Amino acid sequence: MRTIGLLGGMSWESTLTYYRLINEAVKDQLGGLHSAKICLYSVDFSEIEKHQHAENWLAAAEILVNAARSVEKAGADFLLICTNTMHKVAAEIEAGIGIPVLHIADATAEVILSENIRTVGLLGTGFTMEQDFYKGRLQEQYGLNVIIPEVNDRKVVHQIIYEELCLGKVEPESRQKYLKIINALSGKGAEGVILGCTEIALLVNQKDTTVPLFDTTAIHARKAAQMALKS
Ligand code: GLU
Repeated sequence: MRTIGLLGGMSWESTLTYYRLINEAVKDQLGGLHSAKICLYSVDFSEIEKHQHAENWLAAAEILVNAARSVEKAGADFLLICTNTMHKVAAEIEAGIGIPVLHIADATAEVILSENIRTVGLLGTGFTMEQDFYKGRLQEQYGLNVIIPEVNDRKVVHQIIYEELCLGKVEPESRQKYLKIINALSGKGAEGVILGCTEIALLVNQKDTTVPLFDTTAIHARKAAQMALKS
């Protein structure tokens, strides 16, 4: 079994989910007392968040490159960046280490394409929904049409992520807001919706809606377990 490197803490609420899902996937596959080999570096999210909102991506990248080097030194064979947003600096992180990065958008696009879906809605932080590092990759490398919510809805989605979900708050009213936005995306032609922030599945999941949802945390974690177990 290969050792999975996790760059976590963004936020730790979703890193918990990664840890559990990866271990469950390995146990499902190997049975008994088997569990995943994981090296986790969990950052202080407050430092990262300040750099994000100041658009100081270089400073955030520096923290993450150093953390990724520690994960590599600890023995990881490949690395997961446990957040969609910080894939903004995935290239810088990958360039700073000698092990490959399993990109969350690649893992997600593969699943979407395998379900014959071509037009998807995207929910995530404002950075993920509005900038090109994520949407652009889905469009250019996988030929997906990506629809994002209108501006006021994007603000709601962003705010709930930083002011509630990353603090472990799960509010029923916020769930209703998300479901309304998911329906609006479906009304605009989305055949499915990407939960493109690793905390969103704490709030909304497939039993809440008939619109197919792509939970990036679960997809990323599952793919990591598969890669670790591939001989
Ligand atoms: N975990 C979130 C994401 O997947 C948001 C927190 C962050 O900005 O890293 O994008």
